[in-house]
Amino acid sequence: MQFNVFCPLCGGQEFSDFNGRQAARCRNCGAMERTRLLFSILNREGVLRRDISVLHLAPEPGLAKRLRDLVSRYVPADINISQYQHFLPEVQRVDLCSFDPTTLGKFDLIIHNHVIEHLPCDLDTVFKKLSSMLNANGRMYFSAPIRGSLLTAENYDPALTDQDRHRLFGQHDHVRIFGSDALALFRKWLGPNVGNIESLAMFAPTELRQMAFHPDPVPLSGHTIFRYSHGGE
Ligand SMILES: [Zn+2]
Repeated sequence: MQFNVFCPLCGGQEFSDFNGRQAARCRNCGAMERTRLLFSILNREGVLRRDISVLHLAPEPGLAKRLRDLVSRYVPADINISQYQHFLPEVQRVDLCSFDPTTLGKFDLIIHNHVIEHLPCDLDTVFKKLSSMLNANGRMYFSAPIRGSLLTAENYDPALTDQDRHRLFGQHDHVRIFGSDALALFRKWLGPNVGNIESLAMFAPTELRQMAFHPDPVPLSGHTIFRYSHGGE
C-alpha cells in the first residue's frame, strides 16, 4: 500500500537523521519523533479542545504553533526565555527548581518533553508542584531520556564539568538519565496514576510509519510518552 509520510504537526514531508536515528527530525518545523507522537496521542485521546488551558514547558516550535492556534489559553514557559522570544513573545520565565505553582493558575494540560533531565533539584518536589497545577480533569504528558539497561543515575553537583555530564548522562547540560526504574520513580513521585503510553497499542503500524515514527524494541525509551492524571484516566 502506498502512503505519504508526513509530520502530523506541520504536514512537512521531509525528515533529517539525527544522532544516528533515521528520519528523526521534521525538516520544516523541527519536530522530533516524540513531539510528533505526542501530538498524535493528544488528537487520538481527544484532549485538544478550544476551551482548554495548556502549560507547555521548553516549548518545541512546531507543537507550540499548533497549540497556540488551537486552545483558548496557551502558556509557554522555560528557564531561558531568550531562545523562545523570537517566535513566542509571550513566553514566561519559570525555574522549575524554585517556582511558586500558584502564580500561573491551573491548567487542563501540562506538557514537558525532555525537560526533567536538566533540573538540578529534587524531582519529587517538581512533580508534586506540577500536578498541583492541574485541574481536576487535567492531564500531564511528558518524556525524558531513558536507557533501559541500567538504573536511573543523577548527580547535580555544580562541580561536575560539561565533559563529566556528557560522559555520565549523555549531554553536557543533563544532570540525570533515567533507567529501567523510570516508571517506578514516576509512580513514587506522582502516585499510581502515571503510566507509559504504548504507541503500538494506540496506533496501527501504518499510522506510525506515516508520521515517520519507528517504535523502539524496548519497553521504555526517550521516545516513550508518559501520561498522568489525578484520576488515572
Ligand atoms: Zn513538522
